[in-house]
Amino acid sequence: MNMEFKRKLPIPMETKEMYPLTPGTAETVKRKTAELKAIFTGESQRLVLIIGPCSADREDSVMEYISRLAVLQDQVKDTLMLVPRLYTNKPRTTGDGYKGLVHQPDPSAGPDLFHGIIATRELHMRAVSETGLICADEMLYPEHYKYIDDLLGYVTVGARSVEDQQHRLTASAADCPAGMKNPTSGDLTVMMNAIMAAQHQHDFIYRGWEGRSGGNACAHAVLRGYVNRQGVTHPNYHYETLLHLADLYDTWKLLNPAVIIDCNHANSGKDPFEQPRILKEVLHSCSCNPRVKRLVKGFMVESYLVDGCQSVGGGVYGKSITDACLGWEKSERLICETAEALRAERNPG
Ligand code: PEP
Ligand code: MN
Repeated sequence: MNMEFKRKLPIPMETKEMYPLTPGTAETVKRKTAELKAIFTGESQRLVLIIGPCSADREDSVMEYISRLAVLQDQVKDTLMLVPRLYTNKPRTTGDGYKGLVHQPDPSAGPDLFHGIIATRELHMRAVSETGLICADEMLYPEHYKYIDDLLGYVTVGARSVEDQQHRLTASAADCPAGMKNPTSGDLTVMMNAIMAAQHQHDFIYRGWEGRSGGNACAHAVLRGYVNRQGVTHPNYHYETLLHLADLYDTWKLLNPAVIIDCNHANSGKDPFEQPRILKEVLHSCSCNPRVKRLVKGFMVESYLVDGCQSVGGGVYGKSITDACLGWEKSERLICETAEALRAERNPG
């Protein structure tokens, strides 16, 4: 192999022994994950809002962001469950560029995966223990999942990974709801295949073990828009697509039919300021048809302290170094307005 083996990394069990969960944190994860699952199974009528920066680039600004969300969570808990995006691995279209906290705990320095693994576990632990919220991350590298599986409340398999067997099988072993995104091409069959794979039990090799997964009954669809053959982005959050997805779910006979609408990425054409409009349009679609309403379990929004994005090393505290985000004031307004709209719908007049 043309590879320099630089150092042997601790396995997840060793890392967990070095950075163990307190009983209180373990209890929070258990309780909040059950709350989230209740949304996906339809036992709870609340919606989930997976919201936060495109990438968790630095601990101080990410913790400030999540702490602000925790205050808001209290105000909207009757209608919304807030799940911070704490995305520590970033897929790159060409492989180049900032690859996330796991690769570069200091975004301006070179790769340091040993400290990246530890920084990731510590940040997820701080987020849960200090705010009482459970977070979402992307399963970009299935073999990394076990370093934080005892902390995560929600996991996505991204648009570039969703056709990959190891991702699907690992999602079938995840204890939390797993969002399977539509691929960048927009082919919904690929996404449905991925959901089916993740809901079933599988025998497979994971981190040197022969194992059998339990199947993930809360694996579900995430619509993130797509890019056509000419490279032009197209949305897929509209009423017609949602109804089509309801039909697909009927045909496929999967457990817990559900969709999360990713309001950024190809749905917004990467314009983060479109996200509030998209979310409100989908709420309107829900109000038009009970089949759509039953299917839509929530939204994903890319949001940070400051509007927009900057280049790596740009130095603005709380501004994204990957996809452009909605800033705090606009995000806070969106959360409050969404909660208000849901309350008004519940209690007309
Ligand atoms: C993301 O959530 O930041 C992301 C990269 O998503 P996708 O896989 O949909 O491109
Ligand atoms: Mn993003």
